[in-house]
Amino acid sequence: MVNNPASQISNSKRCPRCGAAFVCTHDAFCQCVGVVLNENARAYLRAHYSDCLCRKCLEEIAALY
Ligand SMILES: [Zn+2]
Ligand SMILES: [Zn+2]
Repeated sequence: MVNNPASQISNSKRCPRCGAAFVCTHDAFCQCVGVVLNENARAYLRAHYSDCLCRKCLEEIAALY
């Protein structure tokens, strides 16, 4: 959405939790689809982050909740 040079690769994002670069497409191929999150984990993500996290963080959160 933000049209700046850093986002020229539209699906490339930076994890808001750890700062790692990752790719999220919000579709069937997004890495977040491969991480199983329960309701508590999803609620936590919604409350704290407005976007996907990298797979590493998603797996950490999935393990915590
Ligand atoms: Zn991360
Ligand atoms: Zn995603």
